[in-house]
Amino acid sequence: MRPLKNLSEIAIIGAGLTGLCAARHAARLGRLVTLFESTGLYGGLVATIDEVDGLAAPGKLSGQALAIHVLDEARKAGVRVLESTIVKVDPGPKLTLTDQHGGAHHPEAVVIASGASLRKLGVPREEEFLGRGLSRCATCDGGFFRGQDVAVVGGGDGAVQEALILARTSRRVVMVCRSPLKAKREYVEKLAALENVSFIWDSEVTEILGEDGVRGIRLRNRKSGTSSTVECAGLFPFIGVTANTGFVPASLLGASGLVKTDSDLATTCPRVFAAGAARAGYGGNIVQAMAEGIGAAEAAARALAR
Ligand SMILES: Cc1cc2nc3c(=O)[nH]c(=O)nc-3n(C[C@H](O)[C@H](O)[C@H](O)COP(=O)(O)OP(=O)(O)OC[C@H]3O[C@@H](n4cnc5c(N)ncnc54)[C@H](O)[C@@H]3O)c2cc1C
Repeated sequence: MRPLKNLSEIAIIGAGLTGLCAARHAARLGRLVTLFESTGLYGGLVATIDEVDGLAAPGKLSGQALAIHVLDEARKAGVRVLESTIVKVDPGPKLTLTDQHGGAHHPEAVVIASGASLRKLGVPREEEFLGRGLSRCATCDGGFFRGQDVAVVGGGDGAVQEALILARTSRRVVMVCRSPLKAKREYVEKLAALENVSFIWDSEVTEILGEDGVRGIRLRNRKSGTSSTVECAGLFPFIGVTANTGFVPASLLGASGLVKTDSDLATTCPRVFAAGAARAGYGGNIVQAMAEGIGAAEAAARALAR
């Protein structure tokens, strides 16, 4: 029998789909695994998605259902799940993870699967409006704007998916785009067929209007420099993501704040791996997130076996 050297041989930081799959797989390989998640919302970016697209599975599947399924399997495989935020990774001679309470954890290997967060608009009082008209989840909050006008900011897959959800219940959805839509053609065609969706091009939000809640937005046209206002009760910004890597040593990060790895998902620090949306070179969809999670778990287990 293998002696129990460490209660956490492999630590996984982040319980998005990458981290969940990494944890589940590492445990199935017989490793002692601890999974750290800073929020109670397992699944990360997909947790709020109404219907996951791109997964070759029968029927419709919400992001939350998928995440809870993998979490259950991970727990059954023996993964220890801690609701805790890792604030520092110190790869020194003894690998040390520090949590938000100052607790030190010493796994033998770590997989950074901390993903990314939706980017903020960067306008004044933005966070004050969160929950008062500003939302980053159409599935969760779309119902509050039934029969009202809403604005969606952005033109990628996420923005268009959210606009499609909002168009079911809102009176009018205004899409505010800096540039032409970058979303998949299939999504764009669905959006173009809807009569209650309109577009404002070449524009960005400069101000959120309202006192206690969102009443509208002020826009600036990037080409002409002119400003205009749009009245809306709801505002849904989806303008991309930024990596959750503030706790990772700067030496492991590339210019965009993403963790650099080789093709084996290994960083330049021994026994420190990265996968998913926190990693430079990640493909951007959940199938890749899940595959990278499994790949990083295997790489970490191989490193421990050496
Ligand atoms: C609106 C939207 C819709 C999308 N729809 C689809 C889709 O339909 N199909 C598809 O294939 N892809 C979709 N994507 C892309 C997909 O969601 C992501 O690429 C994928 O989920 C990334 O997974 P991840 O686990 O790497 O990162 P994340 O999902 O970001 O998960 C990271 C997790 O780590 C946690 N964490 C962060 N920092 C710490 C820390 N310091 N300590 C502990 N925990 C931490 C976070 O709380 C989070 O739970 C969508 C993305 C968006 C934004």
